[in-house]
Amino acid sequence: MNVEILTRSAIIEKCAILNSFNQTFAINRLKELTKENGIRLNLCFSIDGKLTEIEYLLFDNTTLTPAQIAALQKLLNQITSNCIGMALINSLINNGHQFDFSINNSINSQAFYNATDNTITLRDPSQLTSNSLMEELYHAYQNFTYPGGTAQYAGKSGNANIEYEFKVLNDMISSIYGGTTLGNTATNMDNYKKWIGSLTNYTSVPNSFNQTQYSFYFIYMNEFYQNDPNHIINYNLYPTTIFSLISHSECSN
Ligand SMILES: [Zn+2]
Repeated sequence: MNVEILTRSAIIEKCAILNSFNQTFAINRLKELTKENGIRLNLCFSIDGKLTEIEYLLFDNTTLTPAQIAALQKLLNQITSNCIGMALINSLINNGHQFDFSINNSINSQAFYNATDNTITLRDPSQLTSNSLMEELYHAYQNFTYPGGTAQYAGKSGNANIEYEFKVLNDMISSIYGGTTLGNTATNMDNYKKWIGSLTNYTSVPNSFNQTQYSFYFIYMNEFYQNDPNHIINYNLYPTTIFSLISHSECSN
């Protein structure tokens, strides 16, 4: 299955082909699903209202240049090249989760997800890494998956967990496929990497953590954030979205 980024006009054309029996329906449905500005994760619906086999990241092309579109497509291809990234995109699409993207070159970070208004802001798609984009997509997934969403943790106890959960997931993926390690600390880098390796055996992502693994999860989180007053750990908030995503992937062991 391909996940593609398409301009609105291109997706209308594709949907019209898919729904060639009723082009008006396809276009009207897309208009319903699409805002005037920004990007949304979205779907092309078939004529009977069922989802098609083809899934898209849909966005409006009025705010993005062709170069920005191409840059995002490249990153999306990288994200979906491993089974967890694919599961993440599938989950967002299959559950009909939608959110807006925008470009703002004055933000401090490469990318930022706002759980309150459900938007992803990108500074410059041509400079963005697939890790950064996947992180923000994962934050969206967390917001849709945690009971009550994740805005409740913004600036409060638990915000460290929301960030660290992605780092551990990312590092498990990196231990299998290669890539950047995010959740280590300078003082305990080797032990952390060994711990991550013990979770995956460098071959597959686990379906759960045992009690010892949870203990180390919080120990490493505490080490990571100990000098950071802006990240507060909630020791009762377990990384459940990691395992809900893995359970919906094709790569669990
Ligand atoms: Zn983050």
